[in-house]
Amino acid sequence: MKGTTDIPFHKTLSFEELTCMVAAEGTERKSLLIEAGRVQEEYVGKNVFFRGLIEFSNYCTKNCYYCGIRKDNKNIERYDIADEDILAAARFAYKNRYGSLVLQSGERSDDKFVERISRLLRGIKKLSNGELGITISLGEQTRETYKEWFKAGAHRYLLRIESSDEELYYKIHPRDAKHDFQTRLNCLYTLKELGYQTGTGVMIGLPFQNYEHLAKDLLFMKELDIDMCGMGPYIEHHDTPLYEYRDQLWPLQRRFEVALNMIASLRILMPDINIAAATALQAIDPMGREKALKCGANVIMPNITPTANRKNYLLYENKPCTDEGADDCTNCLNVRIQMAGREVGYGEWGDSLHFHSNRGRR
Ligand code: SAH
Ligand code: SF4
Repeated sequence: MKGTTDIPFHKTLSFEELTCMVAAEGTERKSLLIEAGRVQEEYVGKNVFFRGLIEFSNYCTKNCYYCGIRKDNKNIERYDIADEDILAAARFAYKNRYGSLVLQSGERSDDKFVERISRLLRGIKKLSNGELGITISLGEQTRETYKEWFKAGAHRYLLRIESSDEELYYKIHPRDAKHDFQTRLNCLYTLKELGYQTGTGVMIGLPFQNYEHLAKDLLFMKELDIDMCGMGPYIEHHDTPLYEYRDQLWPLQRRFEVALNMIASLRILMPDINIAAATALQAIDPMGREKALKCGANVIMPNITPTANRKNYLLYENKPCTDEGADDCTNCLNVRIQMAGREVGYGEWGDSLHFHSNRGRR
């Protein structure tokens, strides 16, 4: 196959090579996706791991220009799921042998919130006899908070850099102390230092973004030596400032293709990390996540948020599965994963192999 394409498949990829891979179309693109699937099977096998996703609150103190639950959006109903309902969702994940869950919400850092998360983490550990792995995705926090949550039982953290290009970062965030690029970067360094399996990611197809930005994002992830990645297409939301630029975006289908190119390129660049098939892929293509599982992604995050609240966690438009119960999701996913030639790693934490192989060096 290597003779049929100009894309070089090896792990030390240059900026120019990555730019070509991210932009690939037609037969070159096909070869890229096939090669990524091969690398995936060689390094992390056919297993796909579940992370039950609980989007427990859409209250947020920030104003990211792309996000439907930003503080200044007055057109949504805010919610905060009661602790007992969060714990019930965790029990569901445990009983269904999901292995791990993800707690995600808008960003808050008041004492009440910090303490509540610690309490919930301890509760989840207790109800699962310490067996459920816990990823949290709760934005930028102080070192002390990250430390406290680690102690309480969280061992993975997902904090997308959104874009590793500082100039682009400030086109999609307000330029103020609450949305400081350097602070976000420092948070990622701190998470790594504290021993979290650290994940980051970007949105793909943002206004003002080009293939070079995306290639740079991949090199950023390699440089940061991340353990996990969650990245997906940007999908505009009508109640956000970036909506004004919707006419300048790549068509949704192209955003989807480039998102898969990014996943495939990252799998080749960092063969043993965990890569999630982002839910936003499914908002564009009903089989979007399954397609990602074939070309590099090995983690899927079924939404187990209690159904009544799902319609209000609209980060973007056309968000899938907002009216299904968690049970439906498990059944349909099982079949879909098998159709993609993958197997569900039930009851396993599914840690990043990269994290464990790196441990001695940290
Ligand atoms: N508040 C936390 C976690 C919740 S937001 C944080 O910001 O880290 C989770 C992710 O949703 C963000 O990192 C962002 O990449 C993604 N997101 C927000 N708005 C989006 C949009 N319009 N299209 C696609 N992804 C979006
Ligand atoms: Fe809040 Fe996260 Fe949305 Fe930014 S991306 S507005 S921090 S929920």
